[in-house]
Amino acid sequence: MNTQEIKALNDKYIINTYGERKLAFVRGLGSRLWDADGKEYLDFFAGIAVVSLGHCHPAVTEAICTQARTLVHTSNLYYIEPQVRLAELLATHAFADRWFFANCGATANESAIKLARRYWAQQGTPKPHILAAENSFHGRTLATITATGQKKYQAGFEPMMPGFSHVPYDNVAALEAAITPETGAILLEPIQGEGGVRVPDELYLPAVRRLCDTRGVLLIFDEVQTGMGRTGKLFCHEHAGIAPDIVTVAKALGNGVPIGAMGCTEKVASGFAPGTHATTFGGNPLCCAAALATLNVLLANGFLEAVRDTGAYFMEALAGLAARHAAIKDVRGKGLMVGVELDKPAGPIVGKMLDAGIVCGPAGPNVLRFAPPLIVTRNDVDRVVSTLDAVLGEA
Ligand SMILES: *Cc1c(COP(=O)(O)O)cnc(C)c1O
Repeated sequence: MNTQEIKALNDKYIINTYGERKLAFVRGLGSRLWDADGKEYLDFFAGIAVVSLGHCHPAVTEAICTQARTLVHTSNLYYIEPQVRLAELLATHAFADRWFFANCGATANESAIKLARRYWAQQGTPKPHILAAENSFHGRTLATITATGQKKYQAGFEPMMPGFSHVPYDNVAALEAAITPETGAILLEPIQGEGGVRVPDELYLPAVRRLCDTRGVLLIFDEVQTGMGRTGKLFCHEHAGIAPDIVTVAKALGNGVPIGAMGCTEKVASGFAPGTHATTFGGNPLCCAAALATLNVLLANGFLEAVRDTGAYFMEALAGLAARHAAIKDVRGKGLMVGVELDKPAGPIVGKMLDAGIVCGPAGPNVLRFAPPLIVTRNDVDRVVSTLDAVLGEA
């Protein structure tokens, strides 16, 4: 099918939650994509920070094909070998001793919210209230749009769930003032993604950790976007030298195969008991085999170091561009999670970049977002920066 044929069927049969799009990609390899009309693109968005090893990475493709020929699904009524191997590998490289596998970011966050509430209920001190940040994003289920600190995701879906409130991000005093005897957890992204690639002050996360310890509140990091090497460490919180009590990941975990996960300390894991939480698909053999292969590549020698190096090179080049274009208000990010704040809507610039063969995206109204496959080279970065230079020059 060509682009027009795909669009015609979409417009007739797909519920219109995504609106009009420019094209359909039909093939990918590494950092390259091809659309239904045969045009080639350089991908600097990775399907919203998902395809971190690049499209159709041979190790992941091999793992998917082998597992698909062996066993795809059994349910969690039985032990699952790829699942326990994935959990062991995650536990070896994270603060979290125990893991629960979900299907996506929102269901990983649902698991975290349920665990925090049930943990305190089990302790005999119910504290169901959760503090989250303004401008945050935690997913599209009812609990996670409630946790999300942006009204636009909630409008029309009221009533929201009780027990959530929001305070300004990157502000420890605001969190401290909002804690009550009912507060059981603080839920934060270590860098806000959808909210505009907002990097907090480097003292913020350590201070929040101390606050949680002194006030007896669980700390949940939503690393659905920042996790799995995106910022140049396996988890973004490693940069801050602290760990949460509960972490969630999803996006890049399976390099495109849908899988989410929630990890926590041994102590907090005691909040769940058999029968208290479950999923049909979560952690199935196919998804876990893909995630295991993905994680093994991420953890290979020098991989994350290269992410930090390419990310720093990219940010420096963008800062150079900012010096020449008044339209650029700010360049921020970590590793290969990069935002460029503009003095105008990002949407039209994203469209012009796409026309010029570069895939990127927006994060909020005025921020251009780059989340390339982590394998991109300095040459790829040079091409993106010179294209942005030209696009901003003509705008
Ligand atoms: C994308 C995202 C989610 C939601 O993940 P889904 O897989 O779309 O449910 C949650 N939190 C953060 C920080 C995200 O970036």
